[in-house]
Amino acid sequence: MLKIEIIPCLKDNFSFVIYNKINRNSLVIDPGEVEPIIYFIKKNNLKLNYILNTHHHSDHIGGNLELKKKYSLKIVGSKMDQKRIPGIDIVLNDGDIWNFENSEIEVRETPGHTIGHIYYYLKKENALFTGDTLFSFGCGRLFEGTYENMLSSLKLIKSLPHNTNIYCGHEYTLNNIKFCLSLDKENQILKKTYNEIKKKIDLNIPSIPTTLKEQISNNIFLNFDNIELKKKLKFENLDELNFFKKIRELKDQF
Ligand SMILES: [Zn+2]
Repeated sequence: MLKIEIIPCLKDNFSFVIYNKINRNSLVIDPGEVEPIIYFIKKNNLKLNYILNTHHHSDHIGGNLELKKKYSLKIVGSKMDQKRIPGIDIVLNDGDIWNFENSEIEVRETPGHTIGHIYYYLKKENALFTGDTLFSFGCGRLFEGTYENMLSSLKLIKSLPHNTNIYCGHEYTLNNIKFCLSLDKENQILKKTYNEIKKKIDLNIPSIPTTLKEQISNNIFLNFDNIELKKKLKFENLDELNFFKKIRELKDQF
């Protein structure tokens, strides 16, 4: 079983170091910058073998070339982003299984935020790395893809086991819950969750991982099929796609 460590980077990004506790082999997902990664690798006496990128944005690939030079590692990403991820060595396609230290990592395309966005799913570790597709109580902005793209990406994530731990690319949780509460005003679970997470953030503790179960219950962007919620928000006339579109537009203005 691999160990997963959350490494806060830049202003509100998350990188993740995943490592084998016995032989110290490791990989890093989305190194936004180098210093915090090098610090963690040194402190824990790890060998950094790979970088995995979820998409091409600079706050996710910023550390690629410097880390590649320092550790002679290989960079892994989507075939779709072959021309946009600096230093890429290994390209993966939708549905590919990539092996790291006897753990299978499933890659699926999740377009919407960007066209070439992918997720990494570690079945054995019960962990999903969603990049900027799904956030805790939110979802990514649509920079390149369509609403249809993003909705089908969220549906794909929703089809995974509900006890999956979700590791996303940014610490946006509090603001996301505020947005959900601006629409679903009397949601007591959201209010309680907000207070719990506020305490964590005040202590500099990341709000993630969350679980898919928690997100399906109260992340408004995963509730495009929730008729009760639509009624409550007076959007009962909107189908799944138009409901999702409406909510995403409201969030863009929030
Ligand atoms: Zn991004």
